[in-house]
Amino acid sequence: MLQRVAVVGAGAAGLCAARHILSRPSSFAPPVVFELTGNIGGTWCYDEHVGTYDNGRPVHSSMYRDLRTNLPKEVMMFPDFPFEPELSSFLSHRAVLQYLHRYCQSYDIGPHIRFNTAVERVRVVMTTGEKPRWEVTSSDPSGGVQTETFDSVFVCSGHYSDPHIPDIPGIRSFKGKVLHSHSYRHAEPYAGQAVVVLGAKASGLDISMELARAGAQVTLSHALPRLTFPLPAGIQQASSVVAVEEDGGVRFQDGSVASADVLMFCTGYNFKYPFLDAAELGLVIQDQVVSPLYRFMMPPAFPSLFFIGICKIICPFPNFNCQVQFALAVLDGSVTLPPQAQMEEEVLRDLQEKVERGVKQHHLLKMDQDQWEYCEVLARSAGFPPLPPVVRSLYEEVWRQRQVHPENYRRLNYRLISSTRWELINGSADG
Ligand code: FAD
Repeated sequence: MLQRVAVVGAGAAGLCAARHILSRPSSFAPPVVFELTGNIGGTWCYDEHVGTYDNGRPVHSSMYRDLRTNLPKEVMMFPDFPFEPELSSFLSHRAVLQYLHRYCQSYDIGPHIRFNTAVERVRVVMTTGEKPRWEVTSSDPSGGVQTETFDSVFVCSGHYSDPHIPDIPGIRSFKGKVLHSHSYRHAEPYAGQAVVVLGAKASGLDISMELARAGAQVTLSHALPRLTFPLPAGIQQASSVVAVEEDGGVRFQDGSVASADVLMFCTGYNFKYPFLDAAELGLVIQDQVVSPLYRFMMPPAFPSLFFIGICKIICPFPNFNCQVQFALAVLDGSVTLPPQAQMEEEVLRDLQEKVERGVKQHHLLKMDQDQWEYCEVLARSAGFPPLPPVVRSLYEEVWRQRQVHPENYRRLNYRLISSTRWELINGSADG
């Protein structure tokens, strides 16, 4: 019997899941891809709108108008589906969305997507002696609700939509504007304003530079060691914000105080899966953590539910591509998982080891350097081609360039020469 798979979301991860399911017609029926919005692409669908739509649903995408990718297309692509050769290495969100449309068309995924259909609930159904199955309840815009049963569910609903805003004493007395990068679209409205940007990771840095170019006075407040690379004029660094004073001034950890018109939180996102019952699945889903997940994908008690792309500091599309192929190998029996207790023990051991190394709770799903071995292990155990070494090598080079030239590294253009070598074809990041 062919297995039926439900895919929640038609962003990059959901499209990747659908593409690989469709390529295994002897094991899987065509997937049902549920997509909340009327479009594919998720994050890459730029939407000028912020807040909520008329139907009460919050805007999903956190994309800003002038974003250029922070990975070159040579690394960002699904390994078996290159971007168009004439594009430069660092892309606009429009180019990425076009790429995902091309991907969707090439693998004929469109007919399997149910647009404007929200997954409201995913419930596990246990029948004695049989594998658990999944009841998926969805609603369409006409108010129709239906429940269908599947053998497996791929959760591809993304995790850059629910803003994480740390609790700062006195923030309610702040007189100016408070927003999260989720609702930032472009810099013009902030020209001439004093903006405190909280957080200096990818979005915090990029948005600070956009704001400074538009003529805002930016204070980039963060808990990292002082950034040593040159920041553009108009940006000064500060330590973490510890409080907002009664007169609306912003106080930093080093005791200094600044007045601000805007507080811009670039403080990340919460994991939010309103359609799942965490306790039923044996999971803890808190703001910044989902655990325990074997191989960062499946609850050990229910290894036919897969979270795709949940890790942070990864090369997203290649990572999704590895996870999806591994998950399908679990479902078709070509990978045999250890018993539940062993999977639980392994996850726990891994978490404990990280905590002992000083990794903070909200960083437990950060992969960073570990991502390469992770993908390698998935490929080896499921028998699909590993990521070509050139992906890691160019990713690390770009990471280095970002540390030194955060403003200009996107001027560089690369070319892949082979599975192990790349070359810089033009551009200079030196000012
Ligand atoms: P999403 O793109 O978020 O897609 C999830 C989909 O699920 C959405 O379409 C949503 O509508 C749908 N959905 C959600 N809930 C439901 C539900 N209940 N029912 C039905 N459908 C649902 N990555 C890079 O590789 N390079 C970059 O340069 C880069 N820049 C980024 C910049 C920003 C500002 C952000 C936020 C992210 C960036 N990323 C980048 C990471 C990016 O999120 C991933 O590359 C990738 O697009 C995530 O895909 P996804 O499918 O996991 O999630």
